[in-house]
Amino acid sequence: MKEKKVLIIGLDGATFDYIFPLMRKGRLPNLSKLMRTGSWGNLESTIQPITGSAWPSFMTGKTPAKHGVFDFIQQEIKEDVGLVNSQSIVGETIFDIFSRNGKEVISINVPVTFPPWKINGYMITGMLSPENAEITYPPEFKKELKDYRIDIKASYKEGKEQEMINDIRDLLQNRTRYTTKILVEKRWDFAMVVFRGTDVIPHYFRKYMDTNHPYYNSSDRRFRNAINEVYENADNAVGELMRIIPDGTTVFLMSDHGHGRLRKMINLNIWLLKNNFLVLKKSPRVKLKYNLFRAGLSPQNVYRTLSNFGIQNAIQKFSRQTRNKVLNAMLSFSDVDWQKTKAYSLGHIGQIYINLKGREKFGSVNPGKEFENVRNGIIKKLKELKDPETGNFVIERVVKKEEIYQGPYLDKSPDLFLFSKDSEYDAFALMAQNTEIFCDHFKGQSGNHRLNGIFIANGPDVKNDIQINNAKIVDILPTVLYSMNIPIPDDIDGKILEDIFEEQFSSKTPKKFEKARVVKKEQQAEVSEQEEIKERLKELGYLG
Ligand SMILES: [Zn+2]
Repeated sequence: MKEKKVLIIGLDGATFDYIFPLMRKGRLPNLSKLMRTGSWGNLESTIQPITGSAWPSFMTGKTPAKHGVFDFIQQEIKEDVGLVNSQSIVGETIFDIFSRNGKEVISINVPVTFPPWKINGYMITGMLSPENAEITYPPEFKKELKDYRIDIKASYKEGKEQEMINDIRDLLQNRTRYTTKILVEKRWDFAMVVFRGTDVIPHYFRKYMDTNHPYYNSSDRRFRNAINEVYENADNAVGELMRIIPDGTTVFLMSDHGHGRLRKMINLNIWLLKNNFLVLKKSPRVKLKYNLFRAGLSPQNVYRTLSNFGIQNAIQKFSRQTRNKVLNAMLSFSDVDWQKTKAYSLGHIGQIYINLKGREKFGSVNPGKEFENVRNGIIKKLKELKDPETGNFVIERVVKKEEIYQGPYLDKSPDLFLFSKDSEYDAFALMAQNTEIFCDHFKGQSGNHRLNGIFIANGPDVKNDIQINNAKIVDILPTVLYSMNIPIPDDIDGKILEDIFEEQFSSKTPKKFEKARVVKKEQQAEVSEQEEIKERLKELGYLG
């Protein structure tokens, strides 16, 4: 019998909301074919649907309460935030499990795999890898990757939109070229590659095609096809990979979350401040800062001013320190009076932490009754929040962490997760952008994440043209392992997506589980480039 192989193609942020209309026009022939001759459905992401937590959930088959990664940024010290990396992920990943079972593994550009670690095969790390760092396992593999590109170079600027589109197209072609080369030259049983353009382009170019977007300008017809084109390019890449993989390979196509309209940002910390859940220090310096802030001096317009003068690149290149000094003059967590503060927000989409004694450095809220009262008080108040522009309520649902998650890192979890109306509002990840509760995205984004990503499976054991429901990102790991007849660790949160498999396969393939192992990744190096990665996050519009 021929050895089984699995290829996973990740399309970051891909959604059927963009795919279906193109498919109906016959513009995505490769995805159409995979779906027609395979099984497919929505794939529910993590809560919140953030690249930084969703890919670790894919890799481990576990929710963030078990793998410990809730966002790109990590609640560490109030004065600063830490960034997550592959070392933050607790437990065995899909790459480790395949390696341990003697399978040959290739991992290309999966987010949150930097720094790389030892697997039975080859690894190239993904987004947020520092430029001159070790990005491969084994290290000498890098020599084979001469002009390989890890991440986006251009950032979105008005007047430079086309540069970003071109940069992302080039990145996709570069990755496709290298991936096909690697898959042809190296031996592999399990391979994976992630393309990022399907996330980045919709973040910035939604407003050009979405006639209902508040920033849509009907006289501006430029870039209205940017999103469609990035999907067509991704479809081409999928087609090229399909052509070079051996017959009989099972292919999984997935995204870490979906995408949709971004209407506005919510400054949750400003909302907490205005509702007395968060209190600023009374010092004259903080007062002055707040007033300057209110008068309009904010990172948002500092950034704009710099852009207008065209000196932004120079500033970034030569004077990061100076720029940080300017930004540090803004309101930050160091200006918060923690003794009087009951709650704060940190992280994307909408996450609130109670300033809990015993957990927080300067905790002020007692566990138990007081904790519950503060939480319930916030939920009640949040439901009254209206967008002054539309007059509509903004918060659709607030979820307590224990309602969705169980696991050893539940304590690290935000205590409340917010879902905005139609997911059209995104909470600012850090302290604030200005003193208004609502504001525009500071880098002009007009699209943002949605809970439902995509899932497509195609292979000899997979049913044809079947739509499945209720698939979750944590289900990929057990489903892929099952398809390869490999035992599944018993501590995962995901389930095997049994409905996708042909009767002929499932009737003779028992579900095998094994006791989960405690593992420590063999890392090559400590991460010392946090500042550089933070800069990248800022460039990408994830941090202000
Ligand atoms: Zn994104």
